[in-house]
Amino acid sequence: MIAALLGALQIAAASPALVVRDGQHTVRVPLVASANGPLLRVESLASMLQIAVHHDSSSYYTISVNGARLQVSTGVSVVRVGSDVRPLASAPVMAAGHLLVPLQLVSEIFPHVVPNTRWDADKGQLVLFTSLGDASNGLVQQAGAPAPSTRTVATRTEHPLPPIPPKRAGRRLVIVDAGHGGVDNGMTGPIGDGPKIREKDITLAVALKLGKRLRAHGIDVVYTRTTDTLIALDDRGRIANRAGGDLFISVHVNAANPNWKDPGAARGFETYFLAEAHTEDARRVEQMENESMRFEGGPAAVDKDDPLGFILSDMKQNEHLRESSELAETIQDHLAEMHPGPNRGVKQAGFRVLVTAYMPAVLVEIGFGTNPREAAFLSSPAKQNAIADAIAAGAMEYLQGYERRVAGAGAAATGPTP
Ligand SMILES: [Zn+2]
Repeated sequence: MIAALLGALQIAAASPALVVRDGQHTVRVPLVASANGPLLRVESLASMLQIAVHHDSSSYYTISVNGARLQVSTGVSVVRVGSDVRPLASAPVMAAGHLLVPLQLVSEIFPHVVPNTRWDADKGQLVLFTSLGDASNGLVQQAGAPAPSTRTVATRTEHPLPPIPPKRAGRRLVIVDAGHGGVDNGMTGPIGDGPKIREKDITLAVALKLGKRLRAHGIDVVYTRTTDTLIALDDRGRIANRAGGDLFISVHVNAANPNWKDPGAARGFETYFLAEAHTEDARRVEQMENESMRFEGGPAAVDKDDPLGFILSDMKQNEHLRESSELAETIQDHLAEMHPGPNRGVKQAGFRVLVTAYMPAVLVEIGFGTNPREAAFLSSPAKQNAIADAIAAGAMEYLQGYERRVAGAGAAATGPTP
């Protein structure tokens, strides 16, 4: 958090503008120097974000950004988002009828609470995703204006996701998804002594090794991320769909429920496929992994989930349920051959990241980062290689079985009608 703030300030010192970019546009938003660090006019973001400032009363203002509501008060160095209060680098001020806020509000707070935003700490830029169906117009209400003046913000419908190579004919394509990333560390552990781990680092290391193994087997691979960045859960599925993946494999590290009798003792590996969570424990993991949405836009982003969209995508995904459970079984079997922890089995849960991938999709919890022994196991590059080998072997076995089933079905279709 401190590093991000320093980064923002350095960028501000080097250049009097904040760069905001999406897949198509880059806009430079002027910064105003102050004794307490760089400030910016809220409305200056309106060409890129759906943003509006509302003067509530006396010193109180509400900033609406992409559906999130941030409440500030001039002269007070905090921002309130729902019931959450976060510190600001300096207090917002009114100048010539414009609300000025610290750059840190954009660099540090936005990525946590405003949907479809991410802070690129390396470049010191605000990066915007465009979510599906986010084509409505934004209204900008000028603070302090005699009558509320409105302005339409340009509609943006492009998809600023990374370019995806065209699918090669006759080649199987596996989407490899490293869980979490960027501001979303995932779980951290272990409980007690042992190497300190962050889930996002372990998942990235294993995902990159898994992709390498699959490529060695002649499989094409698309990663949802290859660096320490936050990719929205829905965008992971969209990347998979746009790439035309045959399989989707999401890698995660498990965490014990702190209310368990001896949480540090929990160990083992499990593989999930999409369905309603069937057990209390599956619900725990589902809730934990879906928590990432918090980093994509807070509770508001979860609330505005379109139930119809969910049902439709659920129906599409249902076609793949049997295949997904098959894939989960083969991966779990191969992990059982090398993993020192107990085999916790194949389970079902409603993972958001799996809902949006319209292909056989599984989520692998490769061990408990809360357990000191498994934290050491998961952070060893040799063990990461072995885990990647096992998952790759499971995926290969599944794909071979799938080819056989497809060939069998093809033969049946061309044979005599029963
Ligand atoms: Zn996770």
